[in-house]
Amino acid sequence: MDRLNLLDVVPAEASAALLEFVRQENLPSYRANQVLRRLWQVPAAGFGEMAELPAQLRARFTEIFALPRLEVGARERSVDGTEKFLFILADGQGIESVAIPDRGRLTLCISSQAGCALQCSFCATGAMGFQRNLSAWEIAGQVRELLLLDPPIPVSNIVFMGMGEPFMNWKAVSTALTILNDPDGLGIGARHITVSTVGVLPGIVALAERPEQFRLAISVHAPNDELRRHLMPINTKYPLRDLIAAAKAFSRRVTFEYVMLGGVNDSDAHAWQLASLAKECRAFVNLIPLHPGGAGNFTPASAERIRGFSRAIRERGVQVAVRKSRGKDIAAACGQLRVERLGRRSPVRSDQHGDVQVA
Ligand code: SAH
Repeated sequence: MDRLNLLDVVPAEASAALLEFVRQENLPSYRANQVLRRLWQVPAAGFGEMAELPAQLRARFTEIFALPRLEVGARERSVDGTEKFLFILADGQGIESVAIPDRGRLTLCISSQAGCALQCSFCATGAMGFQRNLSAWEIAGQVRELLLLDPPIPVSNIVFMGMGEPFMNWKAVSTALTILNDPDGLGIGARHITVSTVGVLPGIVALAERPEQFRLAISVHAPNDELRRHLMPINTKYPLRDLIAAAKAFSRRVTFEYVMLGGVNDSDAHAWQLASLAKECRAFVNLIPLHPGGAGNFTPASAERIRGFSRAIRERGVQVAVRKSRGKDIAAACGQLRVERLGRRSPVRSDQHGDVQVA
């Protein structure tokens, strides 16, 4: 019989399973709470490491429950303190997480899929194609593994800006969001957790329906449909007009992500168009310097052009920030480390895959 993976369910469900087990075994109920605490709050590498349990009991828990790990396949540290992790999954797939320290905060950029089906023209993950969806524990487990390092890396903020499109794997992402936020899970405040999407509409609606204040970022990257279709094929299915309407309906303030591609989307005219879209839905604009080594033959916009672009937006009364480019020397943009280490695998077309599921 398969052991129940306590990390792949929300804490309430893990707690119920543990309580049921201790009841059957005639153990005191605090034993269930001791284990629950060691799932996420003070993670243990395995039951064998739970020194607070008698040896016999550790062995018994191991027979019934699983606490799987992600294997650290590579770890690289940038001169700016950014650290990038390549995790190897049980089936040999590789996924990435990037830990970004910034003034007392530690933001972890996590992956939701191995590969990605969306083929944004500048993105290294898109170029490798879709491999598979991650399970909830493989998503939240990226944070858990950082806590299990010696010394541990405690995480204060989460962005779903690693590999994959979170809204094409909503069921697992939704469970992972609960684990990340729940006080019996990782206890990270919902306002410190940002889901980033190319604009998969049903996903935006599903996130909006959650009662917690999770944040939403939309990868806009072009201020008109013609250019956006060219850069992001998904725009055919979910054009800008619909995205703006969804952003407007979202209960919290949305962030627009906009990667600065030299000579492609970085003119003042683009800035004005973008500003009017942002104004319509009261979005905050985040300008991202292009990370070299993504995909396609794009050139980063110059620092001077980025400044001009941001000024043009601000002059229209829209809040804008330029994202600091971090970890350039360790290829820290979406998908880059995996390509370096594992090579480019032949992609699986998303329509050949059973497990692509939209929210
Ligand atoms: N699929 C989601 C989340 C993953 S990508 C999304 O698209 O939002 C996270 C962000 O990194 C996106 O805004 C994406 O466009 C951006 N990105 C991808 N490749 C990049 C590169 N080479 N340089 C800078 N940003 C990049």
